[in-house]
Amino acid sequence: MGKAARVRDTHSQGPLPACVEGFTRLQHPVTQIIDGSTLAGAADSQAAIEQPDEDVLATPAVVDDTSQPPTSAFATFGLCRELLDGLAAIGFEEPSPIQKAAIPELMLGRDLVGQAQTGTGKTAAFGLPLLERLEPGLRTPQVLVLTPTRELAMQVAEAFNSYASSMKGVKVLPIYGGADFRDQIQHLRRGVQIVVGTPGRVMDHMRQGTLDLSGLRSLVLDEADEMLRMGFIDDVQWVLEQLPAERQVVLFSATMPNEIRRISQKYLNDPAEVTIRQKAADGRRIRQRHLVVNGPQKLEALERVLEAEGSEGVIIFARTKAITLTVAESLEQHGYDVAVLNGDVPQNQRERTIERLRDGRVNVLVATDVAARGLDVDRIGLVINYDIPFDGEAYVHRIGRTGRAGRNGEAILFLTPRERRFLGGLERAVNQPIEAMEVPGNASINQHRLDRLREKLTLALQQPAGNPEERALLGEILQRVAQEQSCSPDQLALAALELSLGGKPLLLQGEERWGQSRPGAPSARDRDRDRSERRPFQDRHSERSEDGPEENMERFRIEVGWRDRVKPGNIVGAIANESGLTGRSIGKIRIFDAHSTVDLPKGMPDDVFADLRRLRVMNKELQISRLGS
Ligand code: ADP
Ligand code: MG
Repeated sequence: MGKAARVRDTHSQGPLPACVEGFTRLQHPVTQIIDGSTLAGAADSQAAIEQPDEDVLATPAVVDDTSQPPTSAFATFGLCRELLDGLAAIGFEEPSPIQKAAIPELMLGRDLVGQAQTGTGKTAAFGLPLLERLEPGLRTPQVLVLTPTRELAMQVAEAFNSYASSMKGVKVLPIYGGADFRDQIQHLRRGVQIVVGTPGRVMDHMRQGTLDLSGLRSLVLDEADEMLRMGFIDDVQWVLEQLPAERQVVLFSATMPNEIRRISQKYLNDPAEVTIRQKAADGRRIRQRHLVVNGPQKLEALERVLEAEGSEGVIIFARTKAITLTVAESLEQHGYDVAVLNGDVPQNQRERTIERLRDGRVNVLVATDVAARGLDVDRIGLVINYDIPFDGEAYVHRIGRTGRAGRNGEAILFLTPRERRFLGGLERAVNQPIEAMEVPGNASINQHRLDRLREKLTLALQQPAGNPEERALLGEILQRVAQEQSCSPDQLALAALELSLGGKPLLLQGEERWGQSRPGAPSARDRDRDRSERRPFQDRHSERSEDGPEENMERFRIEVGWRDRVKPGNIVGAIANESGLTGRSIGKIRIFDAHSTVDLPKGMPDDVFADLRRLRVMNKELQISRLGS
């Protein structure tokens, strides 16, 4: 990457024609390094994005005329109406930095190397332009996306479908190991334009001639570094070798190890380069913490955080309009005074909402980034990043909504297990650690409830709120009940206090800590995706290599070894994708000269076993067999 902060070519500015035909090759590389200070400039034609931070209320934001349908910032890329409709339906309001940088290049058919962390929106960065360039009339594969895992393949395929929900005749097919081969062949025969798959299964289909890539226009290597880590890089190279000479290659990776660099140098033609970098900022008055929670449990975690940590004004940041609504509805049901601020909210209503937040009629605001840009309300004591922001810049903006006017503020960031790995990037952006915290357990919530009740009771005693006549009547009732029941004032007060709870239990019952021994936590999917957490297989292997398999595990022999230059990662990757086992559930691996052993959970279904037998690693069939225990 060059030293210049950002070098741009004239062709990458401004809107592009809806469909750019052919594959334009450019002679000079375009390198874009996007950092905090140039994010706004990355979308020159978008007024909404260039607004000065503190000014959003004075300047019309995305929607200022309620009679018009909102124009999406995505429209400036020259995407067709159907794609814009698809995006509107899933609530994408504004392109993320990597989307701003990559979409114009990919619309031109350029090769591209993109480096950005997870969660920055890479799928749409390649998905939208490739869909735009698709010829739905042709029923042959035009786009191939390779992903390291089947979960990712499914996810990317789903994403393509959601962007293309308003387009006619677009067929997307995920292909991965563990799913029925013949079924996939049938779908391929019927005609698909976009194939998303794991390298092994894609190779199988290519070898068998069931996946014809002669008409392929674009190949995407998604999470290239992960594919390297899982031992798929030879497979990826093999696929690259088979492609037509005239094709577009797009490579996305969170990190750029040398092998990945080499691949991009060898197979990509004069690629545009985009790097999303974090920017340092100042957040000293703001105490920042993070907690790790599985996606499906986020809402409950949020309620717990609000109960145990809630302050006088709270802003919750969510990624899409749809999420803002879900969160707000759920909080409303739990008795919070909530308001929503997203791109659908017209300007005049926005101002009213912010006024209500300012004077305390509303205590919790659920917002998207665009809507809350520049929002300046002193009484915000807590910012919750319910969804992780796209980059350090967005994080800095979000937490900057608290700690204003010389006050202190709190910021809590929700991370799914998989997102944990880019905590470091955000810490660099604020130049300070973001401490870990736990989702508040029952004990701390209960303590909080008791404290609050005591405060309220004290306040009611010190500053009685009711009118004097009513208080006199209440006093009479108390006297009468005390006489009739001949009870003590203490007993009477206790009964009154319980009455004030409205029949709801004051305390949460059960487990001390949250998130433990709950059904399905952490979800198998999250565990699988959280590969950064995995212990190195080599270590596991050397740890107790003399032992037999652990309980519940069975030892298998496979016919690849050192001689074939196999590494544990190759074996794990291949087996994980073919069997549907998570990487973690694959046990010890020992590699010998001409064979290896691998421990797998007991009770493998026969069909999986059969699939594994013919699975190829390093171009050799595994011929897996059980080792007599
Ligand atoms: P990456 O591939 O970089 O890890 P994804 O493409 O999976 O990131 O996107 C992460 C999340 O952000 C997804 O839930 C996706 O729907 C959402 N997302 C992507 N782009 C946008 C956008 N422009 N606006 C709102 N949400 C977005
Ligand atoms: Mg991705």
